[in-house]
Amino acid sequence: LLLAYDPARRLARLNVNLSKALVGVRLMYELIDEQPDLEQVENAPDLKVDSGQIELKDVKFSYGEGAALNGLTLTAEGGKTTALVGASGAGKSTVFALIERFYDPQQGTISVDGQPIKSVTMGSLRRNIAYVSQDSYLFNISIRDNIAIGRPDATQEEIEAAAKAANAHDFILELPEGYNTLAGDGGGRLSGGQRQRVAIARAMLLDAPILLLDEATSALDAESEAKIQSALETLMEGRTTLVIAHRLSTVRHAHKILVLDRGRVLESGTHDELFEHDGIYRRLCELQFQSRNEAAE
Ligand code: ADP
Ligand code: MG
Repeated sequence: LLLAYDPARRLARLNVNLSKALVGVRLMYELIDEQPDLEQVENAPDLKVDSGQIELKDVKFSYGEGAALNGLTLTAEGGKTTALVGASGAGKSTVFALIERFYDPQQGTISVDGQPIKSVTMGSLRRNIAYVSQDSYLFNISIRDNIAIGRPDATQEEIEAAAKAANAHDFILELPEGYNTLAGDGGGRLSGGQRQRVAIARAMLLDAPILLLDEATSALDAESEAKIQSALETLMEGRTTLVIAHRLSTVRHAHKILVLDRGRVLESGTHDELFEHDGIYRRLCELQFQSRNEAAE
């Protein structure tokens, strides 16, 4: 459920033969699970991204009973990194699902560069957003095709450039058939850290101006961790990034931190500002982040 808005995972459920049908996948990738109950404006224009500023205004959303988002207002500044932190169930993943428009809020508006996402085509919205999580889905097709899944027209040079930027190129070359190696079911032939770097390469190739990043909760070995961290930094550069942060190092570097609690923003500011103020954020740092960072050292 938590990963239901990973486009690759949604596509996997359709059971299509991707290796044979890679052409045209891009369109599917953008349109998968388009919900019939999502309102579509006739002759909607495409989203035009400028700086990629994302705004949620007084957003209320419920999956059925109880409010998942309860009058949430936030701005993620174009080209900058905004970290979402908060206890489990606070609404962080729901924010991602609504920005990708897998659901519409019952109240309030979500817009990108001033354009309400309800008023633009779904394809143009999804094309401009890349989603990366620790558990991004890989198909049992070649590593090359896994990287190119959102851009089947990409050249080998483009694919390799993306893999290099994602710190994936070297390990891919060491696989028995290099870029032609099959990833195995769900990417099972690769380690967790390798899968994640393939997912980063995929996002790199997609080159979307908006990045939704769900940071790893479980620790990888130190070497993978460092490679992934530097790959993510390259990926985030110049993009509007919203990151569900589990690491103190990530929140420290974010331009802004939003502390979510029961579907609202309770505190916002930089790490130093929030830490100064003896609130929820400070408690989170002392409990959650601290234990994680000690474990990683
Ligand atoms: P977080 O990512 O911060 O842990 P979520 O956005 O996943 O929080 O969840 C916010 C609230 O919405 C929680 O109460 C959660 O139980 C509920 N919720 C999340 N996804 C669903 C779903 N698909 N169906 C029903 N309730 C959901
Ligand atoms: Mg979540």
